[in-house]
Amino acid sequence: MYRFIPDYSPEDLGDIQANGLRWSVLHAYARSSQYREKLRAAGVDPAGIRSLEDLRHLPFTSMEDLRDGYPLPMLSVPEAEVVRVHASSGTTGKRKILAYTRKDVEIFALQMARCFEMAGLTPRDRVQIAVGYGLWTAGAGFQLGCEQFGALTIPVGAGNLDIHLQMLTDLGSTCLCSTASMALLMGEEVQRHGLADRIKLRTVIFGAEGHNQKMRRAFERNLGVGESFDIGGMTEMYGPGTSLECTAHEGLHYWADLFVIEIVDPRTLKPVSPGEVGEMVVTSLCKEAVPLIRYRTRDLSRLLPQPCPCGCSMPRHDHLRGRSDDMIIFRGVNIYPGQVEDVLQQFPELGSEYHIALSREEGRDIMLLSLERAEGLGAGGDAALSGRVAKRLHSKVLISAEVEIVDPGVLPRAFGKSRRVTDKRLFGE
Ligand code: ZN
Repeated sequence: MYRFIPDYSPEDLGDIQANGLRWSVLHAYARSSQYREKLRAAGVDPAGIRSLEDLRHLPFTSMEDLRDGYPLPMLSVPEAEVVRVHASSGTTGKRKILAYTRKDVEIFALQMARCFEMAGLTPRDRVQIAVGYGLWTAGAGFQLGCEQFGALTIPVGAGNLDIHLQMLTDLGSTCLCSTASMALLMGEEVQRHGLADRIKLRTVIFGAEGHNQKMRRAFERNLGVGESFDIGGMTEMYGPGTSLECTAHEGLHYWADLFVIEIVDPRTLKPVSPGEVGEMVVTSLCKEAVPLIRYRTRDLSRLLPQPCPCGCSMPRHDHLRGRSDDMIIFRGVNIYPGQVEDVLQQFPELGSEYHIALSREEGRDIMLLSLERAEGLGAGGDAALSGRVAKRLHSKVLISAEVEIVDPGVLPRAFGKSRRVTDKRLFGE
């Protein structure tokens, strides 16, 4: 039923993965001195790779490995075969620059084309791209994939709100590709200018940053779209399009014939139990210029092992739950802020801000969770609400926390862990 998304039997997919792993390790060992040193140090005989089970004996590749090889890290082809580079939008230190061969660019286009297909687009769709062009992968990736898929591409780029509004109305774009916050901003602009009746958007494909259900419902409503799709991706694995939500909206299908995902405990680096949250580790199966061997993405997610109601046979992972650096160890249990957020989302009486304070009393970890009451509610129900939240947290995340409800707007606004979690346990009692 799909043109770009293959439908493999589990046996065929297993063969593709085993062969891809074997090829990737042999290729990296033969062509990259950086990989050769790592594999030798770990005592790996590349010729001995037989099955996917051998993956667990391979050493991890880290962000530091990519930085160490600057400017062309882990390069596994002669430079003459490199046709393109992209770089991460890294905020600190040196950027990670990743090289692509011609085949890598073709696979990049294929992985993105699969996303447009999974989102239900047809070649008659008009796709407005509102992500950045240039060194980073987003704009180039969406465009490549859209052209491969055969829809009409409108490459506006990030920013330029006036041009975006003009293209939305004049060209009647049917699909918007952007970050969640850009979609939110465009939705507000569409409403502010009274353009809702003049635009024809049906779909938003969004990604590259954290989002919550409230944001998502807000831009869907303001843009008048029936559906939106979360997209996965990372510069190291070509760019955007490694996975996409399907119409069942229960997690993201990823392209398991192009790469393998393992989920490990970021502390022990051992695999977690099936379905548990941990760090995603990615191994590419046909990447030429920079193969990835057990690359630690630092992204937290979990695999969804059940078959998907949509019928697509590609496996699924859940939405990203933040970064493994954000992991909290509370009474010996790994806790991720995303798990707490998931519980908070279930309470319409709460706003979306929260703060976690950790302390230690008499050798025991204490968690105080501060939550904002939703706008327009009185404080009369606070005690009952905090009791219900504490109970839900205990049953869903298995933590016992003290919960306090505060007035809306009281907590500091923040986008990362650094200000959402205060850990006083290091400074004694
Ligand atoms: Zn599905």
